Amino acid sequence: MTSPTSSSGVPARVTIWEVGARDGLQNESVVLSAAVKAEFLDRLADAGLRVLEATSFVHPEWVPQLADAEEVLRLLRPRGDVHYPVLVPNERGLDRALATGVRHVALFASATESFALRNLNASLDGQFEMFEPVVRRALAADLPVRAYLSMCFGDPWEGTVPVEQVVSIGRRLLDLGCWQLSLGDTIGVCTPGQADAMIDAFGQAGVAVERLAVHFHDTYGQALANTLAALRRGVSTVDSAAGGLGGCPYAESATGNLATEDLVWMLNGLGVEHGVDLEALVRTSVWMAGQLGRPSPSRVVQALSRDAPGRRGLSR
Ligand code: MG
Repeated sequence: MTSPTSSSGVPARVTIWEVGARDGLQNESVVLSAAVKAEFLDRLADAGLRVLEATSFVHPEWVPQLADAEEVLRLLRPRGDVHYPVLVPNERGLDRALATGVRHVALFASATESFALRNLNASLDGQFEMFEPVVRRALAADLPVRAYLSMCFGDPWEGTVPVEQVVSIGRRLLDLGCWQLSLGDTIGVCTPGQADAMIDAFGQAGVAVERLAVHFHDTYGQALANTLAALRRGVSTVDSAAGGLGGCPYAESATGNLATEDLVWMLNGLGVEHGVDLEALVRTSVWMAGQLGRPSPSRVVQALSRDAPGRRGLSR
């Protein structure tokens, strides 16, 4: 089934998969308290976001920023209409996640051998030995599993990644039982033609576009252009982080994830439904920037929070 399209040739409705509290904060050097993280998630939900990746059950030594996963989830205000998926890197992480009663998990895979070895301590093939029991046990517990596939468009050690390799690894993740595949441009090098080619290649391999999400980084200023390319191919789930949180640890740049505000601004212009109150979101990112002690890299946050004549000041 294809989603209905708006007059702009893009899906009429887009699901924003907000990753700021997980992917964003895990890549920030400042470690925040569980109370601040829970307040961040509550404010994002108040702003209308309905899918909030809440935290990660990775070993605290690897990601000390998210060592308080259980505490953050305990502090969240219960809301029936908001999904709080969590990242689980392995069975130990799944055990911890299951103990908290989460209803949705995600795993993190690599499209390249070099990143798999460095980040997952496994080979390209070997990572599946880690994922298989996680997916099997999560599905047995009725939890949908999303798969992140990192380094889809470029890898700092291997350069350009062959499209066939990405499609092959991505298909294996879907065949394993993951319901959705988020195609990650981990170092932000993708350009729109590459995004087109990747989505087309998955289509030719028999993967319905509804099973794909995109996860672009703005390192080279291409995240929105790539997102628009993906939307025009029918992709209707887009990952982004409020305020553009999460400078990429593999690229020397202050800009990380596509900023949710930048995405919302573009979707508003395209007449795409998304359910987010942009002003409330900007206020949240201005507040979070204060917690982190640095301004948001998002252009839309900067523009809307500036106290210039003719603009509404959102910084107070
Ligand atoms: Mg990211």
